[in-house]
Amino acid sequence: MKILLIFNEKKFEYDIFNLIRAFYPDAEMEIRYEKTDQLLSGEAEQGLSGAADLIWRFVYGREQITVEMLRAAVCNTGGCGQAVWREILQLTAPDDRKETKNQLKRLVYSGLVKQCGHPLPWGDLSGIRPVRLVTGMLEDEHMTQDEAVLAIQERYCVSPAKAELAAAVASREQTLLQTFDYRTGYSLYVDIPFCPSICLYCTFGSHPLHAWKDFVEPYLAALTRELEMTAQLMQNTRLDTIYIGGGTPTSLSPEQMDALLTRMERLFNYSDLREFTVEAGRPDTITEEMLTVLASHPVTRISINPQTMHQKTLDLIGRRHTVEETEQAFHLARRMGFDHINMDMIVGLPGEGAAEAAASMAAIEQLAPDAFTVHSLALKRAARMNQFRDIWRPVSFENSIEIMDAVADGAARMEMSPYYLYRQKNMAGNFENVGYAKEGKACLYNILIMEEKQTIVGTGCGAATKLILPDGSKGGRAGNVKSLTEYLARTDEMMERKRELIQQFG
Ligand code: SF4
Repeated sequence: MKILLIFNEKKFEYDIFNLIRAFYPDAEMEIRYEKTDQLLSGEAEQGLSGAADLIWRFVYGREQITVEMLRAAVCNTGGCGQAVWREILQLTAPDDRKETKNQLKRLVYSGLVKQCGHPLPWGDLSGIRPVRLVTGMLEDEHMTQDEAVLAIQERYCVSPAKAELAAAVASREQTLLQTFDYRTGYSLYVDIPFCPSICLYCTFGSHPLHAWKDFVEPYLAALTRELEMTAQLMQNTRLDTIYIGGGTPTSLSPEQMDALLTRMERLFNYSDLREFTVEAGRPDTITEEMLTVLASHPVTRISINPQTMHQKTLDLIGRRHTVEETEQAFHLARRMGFDHINMDMIVGLPGEGAAEAAASMAAIEQLAPDAFTVHSLALKRAARMNQFRDIWRPVSFENSIEIMDAVADGAARMEMSPYYLYRQKNMAGNFENVGYAKEGKACLYNILIMEEKQTIVGTGCGAATKLILPDGSKGGRAGNVKSLTEYLARTDEMMERKRELIQQFG
């Protein structure tokens, strides 16, 4: 399907584009600009018949916005040719850009719901941080949680269930963040960009260890230089949380991991550290030797990520580990005393529907982790997987309210409640990623980074440093390059960028 969006001004076009994309995730979409009189007279469509299946026209005037949706291709076959839906928006606050955008999006959303015959769980919201909207309502507009639940439904057409979820997460986040003065501290992120094999849905830019093994030591040397500079720059700021992610950090050898953790311990002051995560991730990297190393350092939280408990799917997506390995790694970590283990699961994997998700959930419940994160497969990841479709067989990518509900019910049975939530662009079914945790087992780092509450200093390949000033405003961003070879060649340049950003604010 091809959808054409025609505007008379460059205004809100990408917000509208994303909204329409959410209803038509597979459509080919194009934005064009035409003069106002051409758009009003319909001239803009002349010669376009057949060029698109749907044409949306947006005409901005001084105080009103006209939206028209034509079925261009249907004109050819169905012989209609006239607008099937046409609205003029009377702006209540024409000088208020944010309010105008919200009104316009609500209008377009209502047209899309009429046309497609179904709403979206998150209404007309396309941003990745819906919880922040609720937090703003609670903190800045001084609403109660119930009032915020209603407001997010009215303003953004969010479904009652998702409004409740966002409000529950916002409220738990508030409670967790009240336990320390996060504004005056910072968090450290360390990236290890290697994995035993590359999963087909991966968009992290990880590197398969077998092909890049000669780069590991040079990488660790460059990373250590970055860590040394970071420790020196941040020596007067309290370090609250550390997160070692990637990639799969436990792809390193136990000796390499030990050396890295030992060096970090010498460089940074851990006396106020509240949380230290190592995302072990792939069960095929979790050995007794590795866990012994982690346990000998102040690591407080690890992740063991099954993604699915179906061997067929694991084989299909290139995870190259077994369900048994997941279970063994989990039991081993428990035996060795790890009392804060998170597990990640992905819903919407190829060939998996509600029954498969429920079975994975049941298997995870058997293990009884302390925290659990569900990811909805983003379409861009699915697209990467689609490239390989011919090799196997037609597979379906399914996500639904039933699947998300089944997962939420499973988390509730494990006595977990949601504590952080984010969305990705082009997510299958317009759903969300949610972190659930038992009491006292929420990951502070996840909240701090997702809600942009605290400065995060990122080190390593692809890591970003984001400064948040004590008043909560953003102080700037410095990102490291994603390519490993580029990172090694340009480490000094990236260190300098980070130094400049951090020193700018003392
Ligand atoms: S384990 Fe994660 S980072 Fe590694 S290849 Fe798979 S999706 Fe990518």
